[in-house]
Amino acid sequence: MSEPGEEPRAGIDPTERVESLLRDLRSTRSGLSAREAARRLIHYGPNELRRRGGRRWPGELLRQFTHPLALLLWVAAVLAWVAQIVAVAVAILVMIVINAVFAFVQEVQAERAVEALAAYLPQKARVVRDGRVQLLPAAELVPGDILLIAEGDRISADARLIEGGVEVDPSTLTGEAMPVFRSAELTDSKVELLRARNLVFSGTSCTEGEAQAVVFATGMRTELGRIAALSERVEREESPLESQVRRVAWLIAAIAVVSGIAFVPLAMIGAHLPLGDAVVFAVGLLVGNVPEGLLPVITLALALGVRGLVRRGAVVKRLSAVESLGATSVICTDKTGTLTENRMRVTTVWTAAGAYDLTGGGAPNIAGDPAISEMAAVMAACNNAQPGVEGELVGDPTEVAMLEAAITLGEARDTAQRRRRRLRQFHFDPVLKLMSTLDERDADMCVDTKGAPEAVLPRCTTILESDRTRAPITPARRHDVERLVDSYARQGLRVLAVAARRLPGRGGRSGVAVPPPAAPTAVGGHDLPERREQAERELTLLGLVAMHDPPRPGVADAVRHCRTAGIRIIVVTGDHALTAAAIAAQVGIVGAHPTVVTGDRLARMSEDELDALLRRNRQLIFARSSPEAKLRIADALRAEGHVVAMTGDGVNDAPALRRADIGVAMGRSGTDVAREASTMVLTDDNFATVVAAVRTGRQVYDNIRKFICYIFAHTTPEVTPFLVFALAGGTVPLPLTVLQLLAFEVGTETLPALALGREPAEPGLMRRPPRARSESVVRLPMLLRAWLFLGVICAVLSMAGFFYVLLRAGWYPGAPTGPGTRLHHAYRQATTMTFLGMIAGQVGTAFAVRTERASLRSIGVVSNPLLLWGIAFELALAAIFIYASPFQALLGTASLTWDMLAFVVPFPLIVWGADEIRRYVRRRDGRTSPNEPGARSATVVRGELRTREK
Ligand code: ADP
Ligand code: MG
Repeated sequence: MSEPGEEPRAGIDPTERVESLLRDLRSTRSGLSAREAARRLIHYGPNELRRRGGRRWPGELLRQFTHPLALLLWVAAVLAWVAQIVAVAVAILVMIVINAVFAFVQEVQAERAVEALAAYLPQKARVVRDGRVQLLPAAELVPGDILLIAEGDRISADARLIEGGVEVDPSTLTGEAMPVFRSAELTDSKVELLRARNLVFSGTSCTEGEAQAVVFATGMRTELGRIAALSERVEREESPLESQVRRVAWLIAAIAVVSGIAFVPLAMIGAHLPLGDAVVFAVGLLVGNVPEGLLPVITLALALGVRGLVRRGAVVKRLSAVESLGATSVICTDKTGTLTENRMRVTTVWTAAGAYDLTGGGAPNIAGDPAISEMAAVMAACNNAQPGVEGELVGDPTEVAMLEAAITLGEARDTAQRRRRRLRQFHFDPVLKLMSTLDERDADMCVDTKGAPEAVLPRCTTILESDRTRAPITPARRHDVERLVDSYARQGLRVLAVAARRLPGRGGRSGVAVPPPAAPTAVGGHDLPERREQAERELTLLGLVAMHDPPRPGVADAVRHCRTAGIRIIVVTGDHALTAAAIAAQVGIVGAHPTVVTGDRLARMSEDELDALLRRNRQLIFARSSPEAKLRIADALRAEGHVVAMTGDGVNDAPALRRADIGVAMGRSGTDVAREASTMVLTDDNFATVVAAVRTGRQVYDNIRKFICYIFAHTTPEVTPFLVFALAGGTVPLPLTVLQLLAFEVGTETLPALALGREPAEPGLMRRPPRARSESVVRLPMLLRAWLFLGVICAVLSMAGFFYVLLRAGWYPGAPTGPGTRLHHAYRQATTMTFLGMIAGQVGTAFAVRTERASLRSIGVVSNPLLLWGIAFELALAAIFIYASPFQALLGTASLTWDMLAFVVPFPLIVWGADEIRRYVRRRDGRTSPNEPGARSATVVRGELRTREK
């Protein structure tokens, strides 16, 4: 651990000659021993960035006291103080404290939930230890380690390149957007470290190429660590939902202030109140209506959603993603690995001599076909699959399958020899859809190529016949091969073509004796094709490989859910059109005749044509697409107002992942770069998980609306007693004291709201269309339901309780109820009835808002135990307020008799029952009335079904 002030890299100049640097770092080109690395790990500490300033909670807590809505409460407290109602002022202060503590606890919990996610996305690094390549947690890197860097990797320590060259995206470190080339061959000294062309730095990522590097700094000693130590924590961005609610909260606060002020003259003129009393009531109204507890509850609900998603295998990186997920209307998905298992198995190998079925398990009879051995040799050579720790092959599943097939066809399983013989690699390029290597074979130099048939065939001039002669490919022959490819693809098989070219007599160069992967550069002096285009031409077609990749179980179900939920699925794949169509049909995404658009056709389309295509075709597949196609598709869909989730795994997918509303990266097969660009990472790479995440997003959003409705439903019963009092012109005594109002606020708001945030999903959640992007979380129908329906019922009930007690005691309008009068005790009981009536109404409201459309029975009356606890707490608190004598003195309450309690008991049932009927009526007539959300997309869903039936 370096102490502040200690020179972190004392004595080491990372730009010096490689050999000297290795000596200084006490390392070699074949890496450290595991034991030495363990020692260094203790000495240098883990390769992690430590966050500065763990104790920031006093500031956070303070913030809860000073945010604008709390300030409004402070103003109210001061007003009460000035009006010399000390008890009210103190009560408001108590409220401020309770709210602040609650909010603080919730925010801390939310933050913890997000921070805990980091553990689900551990950074890995490929390191040479004990002479073997190992995949280790990046936190275990130490100076002196030999690091292997490949396309798509995030570089996790500062390192000096010793082999190869890479293109690096330095934007995270320097803010520069342009990738820079860094190579072991380039020497720089006496330049600023970050500019040295042979160094790479922690936090940047490799966008192209391959290299080996020796680590010279880790953890807080890296350049990134220095920056992290300097900069403060980034502020959490607010989600659209939160800002919407903040706006609504403000609007309501403003209404509260205005109505509070308006109340003063009304009370003075109508009820002949003195100014002081009028001000106190105004303050009460204001405090009652400011929804100060709302935002923290929302934050926590989102955080709970994030936690739920992790359990489902989806790690989201910001709270607001939960919200966008719920609105997702289009999912653009990869095929390989997402819809399918990504466990390829070669079923058929075809050469000019014939087709070999490999499904049987045993080796096919290949005697008498010299072409097949050449084919197998190329399949094994142009391949990076390797034996893993347990002996099984690991790597790109396509390549694993090909290597397995090659072994079945008689190739040796010798990856060390492959490494020695390989002189150069042109890595798989998803745009070209080709991979090639230059290998020594039988004393010749060979170009070995595999890739999509459409990419390989045009680069072939001859075909290897069964007698080992090379015959020119005639157009007719080519056509035959293409037909064969189509017939495999139509069965949902992935087809690759294999080709080679011999450059006779140019072999003989000794192998590169470094650990894998072999360096792609540093081959000089020979007449080797330097560039891809020179290598991948005039090839001889050896044959085809067809492989099977079964659809994942569960995907078909998820697709069905998408269909009922009005979510479109668009397959965007690099694979063959027919393969893609077959797989998509197998899982139910498309019918028998989908529209398949290939990459070439898309490239020729104008933006308008693309828009029209997306609008008109419900069953769309983009095949042989390039990564930038994804970007265009995401753009076009977003312009149409869709909320787009887009999956991706490669480096080139990063821009599209950033552009989509929800960029979904693959946790298993994806690159670090894609993971970083994404909003959500799937730990299981499964399409079904995306749908499950959408479901969770919808559920969380629904729940947030439930407690917003619940909290807003307070308003009417809170305001009504004061209106009754003011409008009665002095004939009716005040039905609720200001302190009772405050007690109601404190006791009923937060806990049931929190519990509503954990409601189980409402049935039919995935049977309604997605909400529109522009739809606000607080909509008029919801406000009407809260204020004019639930609120009014509660208000009427609590007023009924108030008058019931008063009238029974012999009260008549205008009768005196003040201290010392005959009716005073009855009046205190009557206000207590208002108080209890309001609480009882809220209990009913809590049950009513549990569903928005469905009946409560369909989700189970007691299916949310937390809510039951919240209500139990609320009632216990009410009992204390009503029966404990200190509170009686403070709040002006009085003990209620049994018959009064019996009067209140039906209140919750009445509120809930009324809403149950309202919901029933709503369910019965017209789900698609024009102002219903998503009525537009409902017809779209039907349209989609129609096209499917055709
Ligand atoms: P997807 O993952 O959507 O199937 P990819 O971009 O991975 O698409 O692959 C596109 C095409 O490139 C494949 O259909 C296959 O023909 C070819 N291909 C895939 N992987 C390799 C590889 N490792 N080497 C050569 N060609 C490959
Ligand atoms: Mg792929």
